[in-house]
Amino acid sequence: MNQQIVSNSIREFSQYNRVLEGNKRYVEKKLTTDDQYFKKLSTGQSPKYLLIGCSDSRAPPNELTETDPGEIFIHRNIANLVIPTDLNLNCVIQYAVEHLNIHSIIVMGHTCCGGIKAAMAQESVGGLLDLWLNQIKIVYEKHQDLIESLENEEDRLDCLSQLNVRAQVMNIWKNPIIQKSWQKGNPIMVHGWLFRVETGYIEELLIDSQTPYEMNKVFALKFKLDSERILSKQTTPLGSPKNNARKRFQFMQKKIIQHIKQQKENTSRIEKISDLQQISELIQNCQEL
Ligand SMILES: [Zn+2]
Repeated sequence: MNQQIVSNSIREFSQYNRVLEGNKRYVEKKLTTDDQYFKKLSTGQSPKYLLIGCSDSRAPPNELTETDPGEIFIHRNIANLVIPTDLNLNCVIQYAVEHLNIHSIIVMGHTCCGGIKAAMAQESVGGLLDLWLNQIKIVYEKHQDLIESLENEEDRLDCLSQLNVRAQVMNIWKNPIIQKSWQKGNPIMVHGWLFRVETGYIEELLIDSQTPYEMNKVFALKFKLDSERILSKQTTPLGSPKNNARKRFQFMQKKIIQHIKQQKENTSRIEKISDLQQISELIQNCQEL
């Protein structure tokens, strides 16, 4: 048993060493073609793309796109999600947009994604992971009919991977940093890609919503320029509507209660109609007998 552990450790250590040896070969190869390569790299970066990809080890963005270090600003997480409250991702987006001045954001999903597969299943994969995968389950729920109409499991996974990329592209449009950038005259483009692990090719997804103005208006934010903000502060009337707040609240409560009552009445009416239909169908069947 101990012998087995020792030989396993030796094997793992030599594999780990192989990674560092690979780095030495990489440096030598780069310097052969350009002996100033790393000196130039150290002077700064000016990537034009931000790529949000999956952490999956089979989907390395630079290698897949034959791009060099310095060309793509990259953020990776499980199943390439754009979660609105993700502090890490939002910092990456803000830095990429406001400091690096990137012109495109790419959300890259991939086939055979473990995150997508786990999200489609019902087995728990652990508290935090379950929470993370909930975002994909929401996409599944929204398109359940389409996904479940596919017979092949592989197709169902592919379908959810694509739908997930589309949903994340929409989340980028809803992001205030992106919207502000558009309003300030820097229109950042957002693209959705699906990398096919089984072929190596990247497919560009055709996504209808090409600008942040095409999403539901409730997400469309209006930013005030600094000069406008100063002006509005100066012109705000002194008589605040605070005194009416209680009345407005009561009025709103009434409206909500009425709205809920109306909804309940509508539902029960529909149920009654369907009951009546069932009874009339039964009578008709009896008559036919
Ligand atoms: Zn993945």
